[in-house]
Amino acid sequence: MSNVILHGHSFKIKITASEINKAVADVARQINSNLKDKKPLFLAVLNGSFMFASDLMKKIKIDCEISFIKVASYEGTSSTGSMKELIGINEDIKGRTVVIIEDIVDTGSTIESVYKQLQELGASEISVATLLFKPDAYTKSVPIEYTAIVVPNDFLVGYGLDYDGLGRNLEDIYVLDYKIEENK
Ligand code: 5GP
Ligand code: MG
Repeated sequence: MSNVILHGHSFKIKITASEINKAVADVARQINSNLKDKKPLFLAVLNGSFMFASDLMKKIKIDCEISFIKVASYEGTSSTGSMKELIGINEDIKGRTVVIIEDIVDTGSTIESVYKQLQELGASEISVATLLFKPDAYTKSVPIEYTAIVVPNDFLVGYGLDYDGLGRNLEDIYVLDYKIEENK
């Protein structure tokens, strides 16, 4: 099936499951080689990264642990703007080699916030593994060590990414094609 309809919008295939699989294998190869003997703690940022995290972990062959976190956004005071609080960390982060697993890095505001909070918790080494990276939208300086697929500034769904709650279950990644006209 090449097009799917979510909330009255039609999306067309952009990246196939087989292309995703190859790109994920490539990231796993790099991590297996770079973090050998480091016993990394993978922290997957829910909800979007669940499918990438699962497929990536099946290809990680070194000693490692995985846990899941969430980023809760809320509006701070006018001086602090929007805050992103890390929730779900039960592990002792101090001195650990941590790999953040993300679905997509867009402006980078989420990843920067997660990165800084892990630094404050005393992680000795932090790297970022993202399924998708939008370099044209990225405004931060946190290094994005492992990128499976570089994408343009389009709105994407599938393979964990949602459009207003729908589409996370799709095995391919889709891009917005057109809005279905209402025949009224
Ligand atoms: P950032 O903080 O880097 O600007 O944005 C990251 C978050 O925005 C992602 O975790 C994701 O929830 C959302 N996001 C950014 N681009 C897309 C996209 O193309 N599709 C979907 N579904 N979510 C996106
Ligand atoms: Mg995300």
